[in-house]
Amino acid sequence: MDAFRYTSAQSSSEAVEIAAKSATAQVGATTRFIAGGTNLVDLMKLNVERPQVVVDINGLSLDKIERLPNGGLRIGGLVRNSDLAHDPTVMRDYAVLSQALLSGASPQLRNMATTGGNLLQKTRCVYFRDTAHACNKREPGTGCSAMEGHNRMLAILGTSEDCIASNPSDMNVALTALEATIDIQGSKGERSVPIHEFYLLPGKTPNRETVLEPGDLITSVTLAAPVAGTRSLYLKLRDRAAYEFALASAAIVMSVEDSRVRRVRVALGGVGTRPWRSVEAERALEGKDVSAANFRHAAEAALKDAHPRSENGFKVELAKRCLVRALTMATTNA
Ligand code: SF4
Repeated sequence: MDAFRYTSAQSSSEAVEIAAKSATAQVGATTRFIAGGTNLVDLMKLNVERPQVVVDINGLSLDKIERLPNGGLRIGGLVRNSDLAHDPTVMRDYAVLSQALLSGASPQLRNMATTGGNLLQKTRCVYFRDTAHACNKREPGTGCSAMEGHNRMLAILGTSEDCIASNPSDMNVALTALEATIDIQGSKGERSVPIHEFYLLPGKTPNRETVLEPGDLITSVTLAAPVAGTRSLYLKLRDRAAYEFALASAAIVMSVEDSRVRRVRVALGGVGTRPWRSVEAERALEGKDVSAANFRHAAEAALKDAHPRSENGFKVELAKRCLVRALTMATTNA
């Protein structure tokens, strides 16, 4: 691990001011915020992240879960994953989020990991984490070792010829189905970004993963008020029952009336280069009867643009079955 300067920020403004000096907020940033450190410290030990300045933000007042006057929910960027998963309001009104959080990592990691950190969780592509191999995300222009290498865990949607890394987070998939908004304090002021605009496709610049600019601090995540009668659910398929990333997952937020889908939001995990909102599946479902045939049709629509590589072709069918199963579970007794 390279030498770095460690400092604690006393306010959000101070944290932003320090981080704004970095040339980028993306892969290769010279300044990093640290909160739980569950991902950053691992990557620093591997020499993948080599910040010159690490800013401890644990002292900031960003650890509250607050009900908003409009019925929505504001989740502070420093709220720990375990606190969020077990919050009574989240469990009742945003079950998909609680379920997704509890399906990820381990209790110890969830006790440390924060909402803001989880949003920025890095891919587990083995080549990204190993500096002996070429990786366009870690070092732009060097190539992608995963194309013909170990890509079983990697993405089949949203990929490019430069990168096929999958977004590893479960929480991000649930937040995508919930159409969350990311609240950011930056050097030019505050702004809110819908989650579907927050993550970038890899394209030719896989080192650019989000819209964050130098200095940007994720202060909170905002959820809209729950709609009465809406059900939500997260289903995760993986190689073992715990402490494992998704091969495929599905987050569903839907309402059904008279056995017909009135409104639905669908997001997939484990298969996309970013948490994957499937507007195609939503269009295929809304206004249609609850039926196995319609669910399968939606799953076909969701995966129609899948581009598997040498080891992950199985994910196409697995993701379809995952979505069908999640929809079936979400509508049982509806
Ligand atoms: Fe790097 Fe992306 Fe290729 Fe993995 S898939 S080696 S992260 S460029």
